[in-house]
Amino acid sequence: MSETLRYSREYHPGDTVVEVGNVKIGKGHFAVIAGPCSVETEEQIVAVAKAVKASGADMLRGGAFKPRTSPYDFQGLKGEGLRLLEIAKAETGLPLVSECVSAADLPLFENVDVIQIGARSMQNYELLKAVAQLDKPVLLKRGVVNTLEELLMSAEYILAGGNENVILCERGIRTFDGHTRSTLDLEAVTVLRELTRLPVIVDPSHATGIAKLVPPMAMAATASGCDGLIIEVHNDPAHALCDGAQSLTPEEFDGLMRRVEKIRKIVE
Ligand code: PEP
Ligand code: MN
Repeated sequence: MSETLRYSREYHPGDTVVEVGNVKIGKGHFAVIAGPCSVETEEQIVAVAKAVKASGADMLRGGAFKPRTSPYDFQGLKGEGLRLLEIAKAETGLPLVSECVSAADLPLFENVDVIQIGARSMQNYELLKAVAQLDKPVLLKRGVVNTLEELLMSAEYILAGGNENVILCERGIRTFDGHTRSTLDLEAVTVLRELTRLPVIVDPSHATGIAKLVPPMAMAATASGCDGLIIEVHNDPAHALCDGAQSLTPEEFDGLMRRVEKIRKIVE
């Protein structure tokens, strides 16, 4: 028996708007999530939070549980990182976005506003079923070797479990060219727009892996009509514990935000 898939446009007419506090994403509402790859210290996360807020970011990102390729790399501050994010939220009012890698850790995320499911976890179906039970939005990132249909079926797990608040994220896929960390699949925004009612944001930081490529790809993504961006920003990229090479400085982020605003005016 064929059932109408919940992510589809047939299931719900019109674009879905996901609300995070006062921030809306989707149906013409554009939101920018910015912050470091990882929470490192209170000084770092509070400084970055204040800077990105001043530049117009809508939410603060920061990883506390880091899924790293090497087990010897910095794995995140875990619960302590989430506590430092809460301090940054108290200082700035920015809603928090942070990645959860295991359902067992979810109780620690009580004060996190958006649960990020990372590229590596996109097909962790038990984790998807666990976040489906939550009453808070989920940012679902596309796996580097996953098709858009697989991304949508992962979103379906969350919707089917009763959580309507899913934001999709294109963050680059693996191709044969090794110049960049991944290849930004910008077609995904337009294709997903047709296939789903859910909001779609773009992550040019993980897609490119190179800070100077982030602004042009962020602008291209904005011009393509996505519903928002997630961008890594660090106050000292050269000494970042994770993903420094792709992190913008607060000044670079500010310049990008001004240009994104202009592009938004054209495509709105
Ligand atoms: C991240 O956002 O820091 C991250 C690990 O991203 P991805 O899951 O897309 O690799
Ligand atoms: Mn990162």
